[in-house]
Amino acid sequence: MKDKRHINIPIFIPHSGCPHSCVFCNQRKISGHSKSPEPEQIKETVEKYLDTVGPEDTCEIAFFGGSFTGITIADQKEYLNLAESFVKKGFVSGIRLSTRPDYINKDILDFLGKYSVKVIELGIQSLDKEVLQKSSRLYTPEEAINACYLVKKSGFSLGIQTMIGLPGDTFEKSLKTAEAVVAIKPDMVRIYPTLVVKDTGLEELYMNKNYRPLSLDEAVLWCSKLVQIYESAGITVLRIGLHDAAGLEKKDDIIAGPVHPAFGELVYSGIWLDKICNELLTYGNIQGRGLNIYVSPSKISQVTGYNRKNIKYLKERFNFSKIRVLPNMDKAQAFRIELNEES
Ligand code: SF4
Repeated sequence: MKDKRHINIPIFIPHSGCPHSCVFCNQRKISGHSKSPEPEQIKETVEKYLDTVGPEDTCEIAFFGGSFTGITIADQKEYLNLAESFVKKGFVSGIRLSTRPDYINKDILDFLGKYSVKVIELGIQSLDKEVLQKSSRLYTPEEAINACYLVKKSGFSLGIQTMIGLPGDTFEKSLKTAEAVVAIKPDMVRIYPTLVVKDTGLEELYMNKNYRPLSLDEAVLWCSKLVQIYESAGITVLRIGLHDAAGLEKKDDIIAGPVHPAFGELVYSGIWLDKICNELLTYGNIQGRGLNIYVSPSKISQVTGYNRKNIKYLKERFNFSKIRVLPNMDKAQAFRIELNEES
């Protein structure tokens, strides 16, 4: 039997005429579209997705790409009515959208509450005052936090989108933001490493040597710590890295930054490496021995690491004679390590 899936049908609504100039954003390019989609195009996209949906799957129409509540009320109504027609027919279970925290207030939430909007994702990016200022986000951490609580109080599920490696950001600041996010208790988070995109303020800073993006290794390390903070607080991490549909990875639009086609996998591999090292450090002298790592079959590639990176690291650090990653058939114990005298 096929697993139940939750499918978000992504509809990109660029914020045409956005009055802001966030340092990282060329919103026309980041959404991969220059014009807002016509209702007919949206209908086609939704229908195309619905053709692939199984009877057990659940679906939501997801308006991403800009600041949904920043577009005109007439446009919002048009998009929401269209999405609502699919909800009414029972084809999708609800609507989700993303917006800026300073485009949220009681009136906006009351308006959205008239439709089947279930999830509101706020592009908070950081809860550090200096990072927000340097990124030209034009709201304070307090305003962002208040918007989060307003969304929750109005009965919507809350998603928080954060970015790491913005101008002025440090590892410590990203940890503090994650702790502040945990205190808000959102239902889900997304973590996006900052990329230098063409025709943005960040490109200028980068070209003038006033900004250095995170390296891939740094971004993976930061994300692996953040994911552990969120997951241990019971918060779902929806996505790490650039949105699939953003369509930037294949183009010349990314000038610099930690891009990798399997970024999320790298992060989870990093988390496994931490876990295995922590466990091994509880053992006595293990130098020169063999190591068997048992994990569920679906996690073998994450444990092994991209290009066997984790295996190479463990071999070098602990001087193992041989390392094997094996499927663990014991469902009660998801992960187990075993040391042997293999040489
Ligand atoms: S991130 Fe959003 S608010 Fe900022 S410039 Fe881009 S579209 Fe406008």
